[in-house]
Amino acid sequence: MEPPLRKSKNRHRRSLFAEVESLHRRLSRIQEDQELLRNTLSGLAHESDISIGSPCPKCGQSYMLIKKGLMSCPSCKNRLSI
Ligand SMILES: [Zn+2]
Repeated sequence: MEPPLRKSKNRHRRSLFAEVESLHRRLSRIQEDQELLRNTLSGLAHESDISIGSPCPKCGQSYMLIKKGLMSCPSCKNRLSI
């Protein structure tokens, strides 16, 4: 029979291990989802004759979309001419 302190430590370790496993599964799903969205966005941009620029310098919440000499942010509507 293990002393109570040791038992509690083992339970804590199992709990941490389960949490790390859960976070790992979540991260994998997020990475897969991000890849799907990246491919979809790339396809949409190509179909719409739009280039994807750098992150918006004003809000940083979206990449700038570039079309016909104009860059625009779909998040904050920031517009810049090139
Ligand atoms: Zn913006």
